[in-house]
Amino acid sequence: AEPPAIVRARGLTVRRGRTEILHGIDLDIPAGSLTAIVGANGAGKTTLIQSLAGVVPPPRGQVTVDGVDPGRASPHDLAARIGFVFQNPEHQFIAHTVFDELAHGLRLRGTADAEVHERVGDMLARFGLTDKADTHPFLLSGGEKRRLSVGTALISHPGVLALDEPTFGQDRARAAELLRLLADVRAEGTTILLVTHDLQLVADHTTHTVVLADGRVHATGPTAELLATDGLFESAGLRL
Ligand code: ATP
Repeated sequence: AEPPAIVRARGLTVRRGRTEILHGIDLDIPAGSLTAIVGANGAGKTTLIQSLAGVVPPPRGQVTVDGVDPGRASPHDLAARIGFVFQNPEHQFIAHTVFDELAHGLRLRGTADAEVHERVGDMLARFGLTDKADTHPFLLSGGEKRRLSVGTALISHPGVLALDEPTFGQDRARAAELLRLLADVRAEGTTILLVTHDLQLVADHTTHTVVLADGRVHATGPTAELLATDGLFESAGLRL
């Protein structure tokens, strides 16, 4: 049997201007899974993951993350349930040093200085950024920026980590390094949800897949089952 869902959507409908982009999505993301959202350009992947993570205004229909509507959760509560990593990590950087970037969320909710230093120190070490603590986030390399954005999302220990195209623009070695890191995060019990164009990544690293086509769920289930179904990805406009 499937594990219980940690992220659920029922009738999730999103409009932008006069256009309806997502048309009543029903979805259950199993707790503990590494789930990919795939689909052709414009299928609605980014809109879907942002709606599930509560980073855009509440859509029509119902979304819950660990039982709570992310669109109505306080920023503090939301950060402890689901962390979000933008396709372009720079979009989320707000501080002038790597240390302060990681510390920001903790300080906002009044975490004591000693604990901030301990938790930021742990994240810096874990993501290979210890000697970059005083560097401006914009001066990091692409891989370092990505790791900083993942660390920032994880510092509140969320149950779900959501990432939009985390390997975008990275070579194979960088992408593999990030996937190893995500596997470690998952091994600690965090559910991982990501958007990707990379079907090799899907085949090699995910447990479950959501195939979107034209704002609807075309297919969803264990990745191995979907891959074994003839023509399933092709009929959503994807090439294996
Ligand atoms: P890609 O793979 O190209 O990144 P995607 O599957 O992530 O695409 P979305 O970015 O979610 O798709 O966009 C889905 C559709 O909604 C697209 O046709 C896009 O042009 C449209 N769209 C997204 N945001 C807006 C907006 N703010 N206003 C109008 N249309 C939008």
